[in-house]
Amino acid sequence: MVIEYMGDILRAEVAMRKELLYKAKNRPAYMFRIDSERVIDATRSGSPARYINHSCSPNCVAEVVTFERGHKIIISAARRIERGEELCYDYKLTPVADQSKIPCHCGAANCRKWIN
Ligand SMILES: [Zn+2]
Repeated sequence: MVIEYMGDILRAEVAMRKELLYKAKNRPAYMFRIDSERVIDATRSGSPARYINHSCSPNCVAEVVTFERGHKIIISAARRIERGEELCYDYKLTPVADQSKIPCHCGAANCRKWIN
């Protein structure tokens, strides 16, 4: 385990409204979708895990771990990580239509060109 992705757990509808609010305030939103109903909003109260970038060839993996009292997002090493190496994981975002596609700049040989 490297770090837990912490934040406020919100219903998906609430998370969508908050994301629009953050955009209106020109504030970056840090969110992690647990499943179709719940999202972790790390924008205001998250751990440093929110700053971990996406990569198409990641050295970490993000896993949803279910506990008796809820869920946690755990970022774990997927291989040996060298000192000073940037942490990254595959965001595994659902592909979307062209207008809202986010270009990927991970630089991996197998880069998919888009994060979503
Ligand atoms: Zn990439």
